[in-house]
Amino acid sequence: MKYIDLHVHSASSDGTLSPRELVLYAKQKNLAAFALTDHDVVDGIEEAVDEGLKQGIEVVPGIELAARYKDREIHILGFFIDYKDPHFLENLAWIQNERKRRNKKMLEKLNSIGFDITIEELKKSAGKDLISRAHFGKVIQEKGYANSVTEAFKLYLSPGKDAYVQREVYTPKECINFIHEAKGLAVLAHPTLYDLTQKELKDLINMLKDEGLDGLEAIYSLFTKEEEYKMRSLANRYNLFITGGSDFHGKNKRQIDMGVGRGNLKVPYELLEEMKKRI
Ligand code: AMP
Ligand code: MN
Ligand code: MN
Ligand code: MN
Repeated sequence: MKYIDLHVHSASSDGTLSPRELVLYAKQKNLAAFALTDHDVVDGIEEAVDEGLKQGIEVVPGIELAARYKDREIHILGFFIDYKDPHFLENLAWIQNERKRRNKKMLEKLNSIGFDITIEELKKSAGKDLISRAHFGKVIQEKGYANSVTEAFKLYLSPGKDAYVQREVYTPKECINFIHEAKGLAVLAHPTLYDLTQKELKDLINMLKDEGLDGLEAIYSLFTKEEEYKMRSLANRYNLFITGGSDFHGKNKRQIDMGVGRGNLKVPYELLEEMKKRI
């Protein structure tokens, strides 16, 4: 059997391995293929694809986009995207600008409650352009304003807390359209993580299907067997293909490993073949 992992982050977003290191790690893990699905950026894809060709690992160009649904954030994965498509890159640039605007406001709020934190420190902690609330959390902890990143989120960085500023994101429909315009397939990521009832989840999937959704992430590190079964049935019912992945972030999510998740994740290569039929 050949196994794959269709949900992987590199250091280009919030993972810790470089795209090249991911390919070498995938090889070590005996994976036949993986999808690089960084949040909001495609910067790592070329390096991963090139190294993949050298190492005989199939790299699927992907993305993970956040979208607002009612009062929450849902995630849409894109697969087989043309990551050089100019219009797609413009959309990503808008997301990044909006994130920067949000970050500036959050930093002002932290400064106004007396935290001595600078944008340089955040940039240094992130090590790249994309600064997320996770990096805010790390710096807050490092500077002694919280005992842990979790505490930093609980006290300051979560919705309703002093330093929180909502970041504007596209609608699910816009995300699906952008992915389609870049010749990709759009998939609802980790459907059980949105705190929705069964009925609400069905409504969401029904709506997304009407808006052009192609697939459902039915195999995922954190799913129970029952959840996986439910997601498979939903996919069946709405004629969506299924994908599966670990959501590997390197050392930023230590309990989750590439390919195997928390230990017994298995994503068969056949899923990728089914997806290719739908391109
Ligand atoms: P952003 O996209 O900048 O709003 O930040 C999202 C990041 O914050 C993601 O990497 C999440 O994993 C992380 N995050 C969200 N909530 C928490 C939390 N309660 N504890 C730790 N990290 C969190
Ligand atoms: Mn992440
Ligand atoms: Mn996600
Ligand atoms: Mn992810």
